[in-house]
Amino acid sequence: MDDCIFCRIAAGHIPSQKVLEDEHFVAFRDINPKAPQHILVIPREHIPSLNDIDGWGAAQGHELLRFIVRVAEQVDVAASGYRVLTNVGPDGGQEIPHLHFHILGGEKLGDFR
Ligand code: 5GP
Ligand code: ZN
Repeated sequence: MDDCIFCRIAAGHIPSQKVLEDEHFVAFRDINPKAPQHILVIPREHIPSLNDIDGWGAAQGHELLRFIVRVAEQVDVAASGYRVLTNVGPDGGQEIPHLHFHILGGEKLGDFR
C-alpha cells in the first residue's frame, strides 16, 4: 500500500535501521525507542492488525515466531530476556495500521497493563 508508512519502510522507500529481513518479514529499530533495544517486526504483506491474519497458515505463524527469536538473538537480548507485544486498534493504542510486533529489551522492563 503506497500510503502505508510500514509498507514503504519494508520496500526501502523510507529509510530505517533494519536489523534483519527475509522473504516475509522485516525488523527495524523503532524511531522512538521505549527501551535500550526496541525493534519492530512487520510482515512485508500489508495486514492491518492481528485481527486480520485469517489468510495465514500455521507455518507462517511459526515462521513469524522464529523470526522474532532470531531478531532477539541479533540484538543480543535472547539470553537476558525481552518482551514481545502487538497493539491492536484504538484501545490497544495501535498508531500504525500495519501489523507489527514490538520487541523490547536491554534492561529490566517495568510492569505493564
Ligand atoms: P503502535 O503504537 O502502532 O503499536 O506503534 C507504532 C510504533 O512505530 C511506535 O513505537 C513509533 O515510535 C514507531 N514509528 C512510527 N513511525 C515510525 C517511522 O517512521 N520509523 C520507525 N522506525 N518507527 C516508527
Ligand atoms: Zn502496510
